[in-house]
Amino acid sequence: MDFRLSEEQEALRESVRDFAREVVAPAIAEHYEQHTFPYEIIRQMGKMGLFGLPFPEEHGGMGGDYFALCLALEELARVDSSVAITLEAAVSLGAMPIHRFGTDEQKARWLPKLLSGEALASFGLTEPGTGSDAGGTQTRAVLDGDEWVINGSKAFITNSGTDITALVTVTAVTGVRPDGSKELSTIIVPSGTPGFTVAPGYSKVGWTASDTHELTFDDCRVPASNLLGERGRGFAQFLRILDEGRIAIAALAVGLAQGCLDESLRYAKEREAFGQPIGNYQAIQFKIADMEMKAHTARLAYYDAAARMLAGEPFKRQAAIAKLHASTIAVDNAREATQIHGGYGFMNEYPVARFWRDSKILEIGEGTSEVQRMVIARDLGM
Ligand SMILES: Cc1cc2nc3c(=O)[nH]c(=O)nc-3n(C[C@H](O)[C@H](O)[C@H](O)COP(=O)(O)OP(=O)(O)OC[C@H]3O[C@@H](n4cnc5c(N)ncnc54)[C@H](O)[C@@H]3O)c2cc1C
Repeated sequence: MDFRLSEEQEALRESVRDFAREVVAPAIAEHYEQHTFPYEIIRQMGKMGLFGLPFPEEHGGMGGDYFALCLALEELARVDSSVAITLEAAVSLGAMPIHRFGTDEQKARWLPKLLSGEALASFGLTEPGTGSDAGGTQTRAVLDGDEWVINGSKAFITNSGTDITALVTVTAVTGVRPDGSKELSTIIVPSGTPGFTVAPGYSKVGWTASDTHELTFDDCRVPASNLLGERGRGFAQFLRILDEGRIAIAALAVGLAQGCLDESLRYAKEREAFGQPIGNYQAIQFKIADMEMKAHTARLAYYDAAARMLAGEPFKRQAAIAKLHASTIAVDNAREATQIHGGYGFMNEYPVARFWRDSKILEIGEGTSEVQRMVIARDLGM
């Protein structure tokens, strides 16, 4: 058992860390404040190859693996989560379903521009009336000749409305099974298809420099060949995508937790109270020690889940544990980092304020903490 990173992995980590510090950190606060999408940062991330990290070179990928993506996400989120979630959603929810389930034609058409970061893809599973209970999908797609006709709506879809969004993969009910249950399938809907409307962006508590919209499909027609993978395999497909995605979100949460620690360590050495740096007080040292313990154990949890996934072993439970633990400790560390910063921690100009606002969604997106507990309990035979 060896949890140390290889030279190649360390080099990737360092280059993303430098990029986050030198390019993301100086520019992101303004985007966050103005709720604008950081196109220039995303363009540079594309040039670095981050959108192609876990994909084969054949379609323009970097030939790395899912763990490489996680390392990059951790380093980005250490500085900013809007940028990190944009990459996570574009790769793990956007391009990955096409890579895993797409036809050769779909891969050839979409993957080169998605893997270069020139275009973004999004994944539309959640609906206004149903999120955790994804089987409750109401959006319908009916085959009419050689076209799917889609009707319904999707809520909270990341990367769905940027100027460079190329498509959304939509889950829809395409029929009824012999046992009366819904037949779910996934269908690619290119941006700009008539009948596909993207609502204005939400006003969010955090992740304000990321792109999130409600989507409506009103007799939206796409070719029958836009079906992704086999008809009726939608449920199995998104379960796989979400299992993997949980490891990526765990990595992102660890990055945020580590960022809280970085900022707190720096501040505790600088800020003085009662004639000495607050870091001299054991109450502050204990908070920092706990933050380190939490970031470290959550990191090991996602490393373990990723290692099992890459070894082709079952990893559902470990991914849920990693996501549950990492999101919980990210919220803990954000709260304590704000506390260590005192009144300044409540000011938006300090990164910890951003971390605090960005942490809560980690307990909600890609399966709430309650859903992770359900997954773990079920896997234990309950
Ligand atoms: C900023 C943002 C970005 C997002 N991006 C995407 C995206 O790109 N694509 C996408 O498809 N979705 C996306 N989502 C949606 C996200 O995955 C859902 O919000 C999440 O899965 C929860 O669903 P819900 O909001 O409908 O909550 P609900 O399912 O209504 O849950 C409400 C509460 O009830 C609890 N609950 C529900 N069922 C049970 C149960 N059986 N037992 C115990 N408790 C239960 C939940 O844990 C939660 O606390 C995004 C959300 C946000 C906020």
